[in-house]
Amino acid sequence: MTGKITLSELADIDVEVLKGVGEKRKESLADYGITNVLELLMNYPRKWVDRTNEARVSDLVAGNEALVIVEVHKVSKFTTKNRRTVVTIQVGDDSGRLTAVFFNQPWRERQLKVGTQVAMFGKPDIYRGVLQMSNPLVDLIGDRTGRIVPIYPQSEKTQVSTWELATWVENALERCRERGLSDPVPVELVNKLELVDRTAALWGIHFPETMEAKQSARRRLAFDELLRVQVVLVGRKRAFELDNTGIRHIVDGKLQQRFISAIPFALTGAQNRVISEINLDLAAPHPMHRLLQGDVGSGKTVVAVSAMLASVQGGHQAALMAPTEVLAEQHFAGVRKLLEGLLVPDANNLFGDRQLRVELLTSRITNDRRRELLRDLANGGVDILIGTHALIQEGVEFASLGVAVIDEQHRFGVEQRAALRNKGEATNSQNSEKVNTSPDVLVMTATPIPRTAAMTVYGDLDVSVLDEMPPGRTPIKTFWVTGEKPESEMWGEVRAAIALGQQAFVVCPLIEESDKLQVASAEDTFKLLAKTELKGLKLGLLHGRMSSNEKDETMTKFRERKIDVLVATTVIEVGVDVPNATCMIVLDADRFGIAQLHQLRGRVGRGSIASRCWLVTSDPEVSSPRVDALVESTDGFYLAEVDLELRGEGTIMNTAQKGRSDLKLASLRLDRDLIELARATAFEIINADPTLKSHNEIRQEIDLLLTPDEEEFLFKN
Ligand code: ADP
Ligand code: MG
Repeated sequence: MTGKITLSELADIDVEVLKGVGEKRKESLADYGITNVLELLMNYPRKWVDRTNEARVSDLVAGNEALVIVEVHKVSKFTTKNRRTVVTIQVGDDSGRLTAVFFNQPWRERQLKVGTQVAMFGKPDIYRGVLQMSNPLVDLIGDRTGRIVPIYPQSEKTQVSTWELATWVENALERCRERGLSDPVPVELVNKLELVDRTAALWGIHFPETMEAKQSARRRLAFDELLRVQVVLVGRKRAFELDNTGIRHIVDGKLQQRFISAIPFALTGAQNRVISEINLDLAAPHPMHRLLQGDVGSGKTVVAVSAMLASVQGGHQAALMAPTEVLAEQHFAGVRKLLEGLLVPDANNLFGDRQLRVELLTSRITNDRRRELLRDLANGGVDILIGTHALIQEGVEFASLGVAVIDEQHRFGVEQRAALRNKGEATNSQNSEKVNTSPDVLVMTATPIPRTAAMTVYGDLDVSVLDEMPPGRTPIKTFWVTGEKPESEMWGEVRAAIALGQQAFVVCPLIEESDKLQVASAEDTFKLLAKTELKGLKLGLLHGRMSSNEKDETMTKFRERKIDVLVATTVIEVGVDVPNATCMIVLDADRFGIAQLHQLRGRVGRGSIASRCWLVTSDPEVSSPRVDALVESTDGFYLAEVDLELRGEGTIMNTAQKGRSDLKLASLRLDRDLIELARATAFEIINADPTLKSHNEIRQEIDLLLTPDEEEFLFKN
């Protein structure tokens, strides 16, 4: 091979070529998860010990934290009377000696063998006249010299030491020196973005001369990770846009106009703006692929209905898919009401009109009814179909699906989105010829996501945001409640609200570990409240182990005010709409995440009466930053930012989409500027070269480093 070394070349080199890696080490490395040189080089240190901060043992002062690099001289272990294990090690450097003790860490005996070099960080004390550190932070560094020593992720099971890894990495990088590492990002771009080159980055992440050098290295490697993801997403987005088999919908037709003018309220500015954004997409020849972000109660339904009507106007159909039956049914009732009395031209009668037909398809409808529904769907008799994932099952065929709306996206996977899209095979009405058209897709989510994070999670979609609440809503007041007296006052206020004819939700303590315990918690809360604070009121219970029929029955009773207080688990988190419910009590609120609390709170404040939300925690001594955030603000986007700050990416990634496994260094939270940079760069690259013909290496790296799920759509078209 000649030319600079590419990552895929490195991936083809077995670790056994490295000095010191024989059969046995090779096996250990495989256990560790490393089989080739690329994996070795991309196994980045978990931290770096800066030896410039190193103290000599003779310089240690009791009470002052310090880092020392020492050798282990002696190890002993004993168990105290009350079964605590104590591992004591004697260590020292050429200036003096010191003792370290570890309580309840029996494995230290095996870890810290005599002769091992360790970096120890801690606060020394004088104990029985001897300098001693208790439970210091310890990193094994072997005999590595250099100012900054890399510490690699370690696990007890695999017998690969951090200094062995460092030695092999060094060996590998040395051997790359002559030919040099290839850099797929054009040098002008690297310079413009003030990034270091790949070679410098890899040396710098493993063996930085200074901590600043490590930072620049991290920045470059994180950029590469983000760029790969963005190239995939932007490429996918462009591919959708180039797909010309969409439908040019009629957006200035009578249906939309009549619908909008018949709505009993004026649209918000945000609703108007978003409807226009969507209409532009609908009228264009290529299929829409848009995300609608809007906080709970921001009025997404009206926007969705407007889009669906554009489809019906042109003689096509529309579908709305919701994640649960309760939600599908609620949408069905709501949409039906919104569209009451709207007429559409009747295909069977040149001069006649017929009622616009909205139908519901869930797994709960009878077989006969289902058969009839599917028949009418296939012959175009049904205009709008609302349902659960039953919509994407085999056998559900539309005459011509023009617009597909997916509500609460995070409950559906990418595959399900695609499945609904694929229901778009349509019969051309002019000549009965089957043509494949892709419906316009609108994905709705009530989970606000900070902008740059959305660029990564939903980077293949255009984004519209409903950032304005309909007027006339009295903002929800939120209280943190803790302690016996405030709690009992709270129940008093709840009883008073109910006496005025209002209703309340009580959300039970969250028990993540087990569904069964969760149900037990709900039942206990229900029984307790019925006997005590809410005695004499009509209570209902709702939890995930009830059958859909039972759940429905309870919800219906609540809606019809036959129940005053609904004691529930988080099953009420999504979408449930009961305007007369004005009180939300969340017990053990500090156990819930911000997004979840926000969703729960969104169940009240849906009518004209002022609503309140009480977040109850049990320990008056401990405040929760999440509860504080909720008390402070009702703005979902603000809360999403706080959530990201507090919890890191986990939240977003888990609720939105799995994957993005290539992000080892990049952080959605800390690298917002890099995300924007990577996205802009990806646009530059894709715009100039949509199929990456002349960016073969980037393409190769994507194949190599992103999981198939992450890149599935790229360049398929
Ligand atoms: P979302 O789905 O975004 O949570 P919905 O579409 O369910 O919100 O709307 C919430 C409530 O607000 C509904 O009762 C709806 O009729 C009402 N609504 C929507 N838009 C407006 C508006 N512009 N003015 C007043 N009320 C509105
Ligand atoms: Mg909704």
